[in-house]
Amino acid sequence: MGEFELIRRFFASAACAAGGEGIALGIGDDCALLQLPPGEQLAISTDTLVAGVHFPDAADPFLLGQRALAVSASDLAAMGATPVAFTLALTLPDARADWLDGFARGLCAMARGCGLGLVGGDTTRGPLSLTLTVLGRVPAGGALTRAGARPGDLLCVGGSLGDGAGALPLVLGQREAQGAHADYLLARYWSPQPQLALGQALRGRATAALDISDGLLADCGHIAKASGVALWVDQSRLPLSPALTALHPRDFALKCALAGGDDYRLAFTLPATELAAVQGLWPEMAVIGRVDAGQGVHLLDSTGAELLPPVLGYQHFGSQGD
Ligand code: ADP
Ligand code: MG
Repeated sequence: MGEFELIRRFFASAACAAGGEGIALGIGDDCALLQLPPGEQLAISTDTLVAGVHFPDAADPFLLGQRALAVSASDLAAMGATPVAFTLALTLPDARADWLDGFARGLCAMARGCGLGLVGGDTTRGPLSLTLTVLGRVPAGGALTRAGARPGDLLCVGGSLGDGAGALPLVLGQREAQGAHADYLLARYWSPQPQLALGQALRGRATAALDISDGLLADCGHIAKASGVALWVDQSRLPLSPALTALHPRDFALKCALAGGDDYRLAFTLPATELAAVQGLWPEMAVIGRVDAGQGVHLLDSTGAELLPPVLGYQHFGSQGD
């Protein structure tokens, strides 16, 4: 199978490459063309996933396709952007039809769920790696950035934390587990749902936002720095899923929630006056702390005492696999 045959068979003719809102020209020419409504800005993000570094070499291709796009689309969610299109640069050791078929189906399933059209890419031979670029649109000046958190705001997250890291021992085959809890954690790892609707709902409400990919404490550090504030995280308020706490001891579950990567939940800061509205739209959200004057991320135990030094203690764990 030659390069053009491969592109045509698995990507250009895929259902997710059939165009969509904002796509004036898709796969097949030298460039794709996008049409933005007047007054909107383009939001762009790129991620590369390398076999053996970001996912196991033998990863199921369907799950890999799904996860790769979810991870990228999560960046659009974090900015409050509406998904439009994506490109795929694929480096493959060989052109195996069964692998490509599974991969393209997983990719397309996530693409259609997110409202992203495949508009182009590149195909080369080499060690397996994937680079995805996602494009979204956002009203000019309305994107959610990491800067803008203000003292007095509430610190919130879009749902349970730690599931991605809690799934890792199962993903890597270091731990055997069956049943509904294991299935839940594996699904959270392999098909995290980018919080796109939440991100769009936070536009005009949240003062800062990002998606948690490197662990809550590390990522909150980015908001604290960009906004010039201190974030206080209340450890007893971290939302832990029943599956995470059923399959792991509480200490490990907390570590996963504080410092584990791969959650792809949004973390955001919210003026208290906006809380009821956002809770109404997104009941799974949780208030986990507050913003204050100062700097850095601080962790409080259930008695309100500061746990020291929280970030240093967990950073090594959190940097696994990045
Ligand atoms: P060029 O030589 O002009 O860069 P290519 O021959 O690399 O174009 O690709 C031909 C067309 O197929 C282009 O529209 C390109 O965007 C698209 N394409 C190539 N690889 C992929 C892929 N893996 N997924 C989706 N589209 C792809
Ligand atoms: Mg060209």
